Amino acid sequence: MKRVVIKVGSHVLTQDGEIAKKRMLALVQLIVKLKSHEYEVILVSSGAVAAGFTQLPLDRAILDNRQALAAIGQPFLLKMYQEKFAIFDVLCSQVLFSADVFNSPKHIRHAKVAIDTLLKNGVVPIINENDTVSVEELVFGDNDRLSAHVAHHFDAELLVILSDIDAFYDKDPNRYDDAKRRAVVTTILDEELNAEHTPNNDFATGGIVTKLQSADFLMKHGKEMFLASGFNLKDIHSYLIDKNHVGGTLFRNPS
Ligand code: ADP
Repeated sequence: MKRVVIKVGSHVLTQDGEIAKKRMLALVQLIVKLKSHEYEVILVSSGAVAAGFTQLPLDRAILDNRQALAAIGQPFLLKMYQEKFAIFDVLCSQVLFSADVFNSPKHIRHAKVAIDTLLKNGVVPIINENDTVSVEELVFGDNDRLSAHVAHHFDAELLVILSDIDAFYDKDPNRYDDAKRRAVVTTILDEELNAEHTPNNDFATGGIVTKLQSADFLMKHGKEMFLASGFNLKDIHSYLIDKNHVGGTLFRNPS
């Protein structure tokens, strides 16, 4: 069995302030299909704040409110996943982490036992950061870093990041028409990793920097990362199931 972690960001999972139900269903279908091939899948899912907002429209510009919305939305998000996995007779489960779990070998060991046991029993672990108590990912990151730690510590070969962008480009494709896709990346430059996350930076708009940091972390630990579109799952389907790298970016060590 090949163990993979799939991370889906809130841009993909939400539309007009609501959970994008069709996209969630497509993701669940992909995971079910991967399970019937040679894969064990761990899902890292954002979307709790958006799910909470559909129940209580607090001002999301305020961090306190986002913490409260995450608390309201997390059970709703999981209920939606449960209903969709149930269509295919698959059980899913909720695993909430605070960021400091990965600073403690004891906690990592405990969490790994639970994840291994879930996977052994065919259950899909759905991991999210407990945003009510650890606000770092709410401020910046949207689970990119968390998912890299999950992949590394729970022995996955590959982290798949399903994003609002379909690959990594030589410059921001939303700002430059001539941006070119990079199919395989084997080195990430320091200036790319440390690029400031501001809307005015040519390189580092959006959350691409946290994705590069995750890729760098995994490559240093001998693992791979694949960045692909979460709006259209054909590239990740081709890559994982048909073994055909058509779109998306693979980050891996030079061989
Ligand atoms: P997610 O959907 O996973 O939350 P983000 O929106 O946080 O993703 O980050 C992806 C965004 O990063 C893209 O929409 C794109 O505008 C921006 N970006 C900046 N530089 C690049 C680049 N070199 N390649 C790809 N995307 C880039």
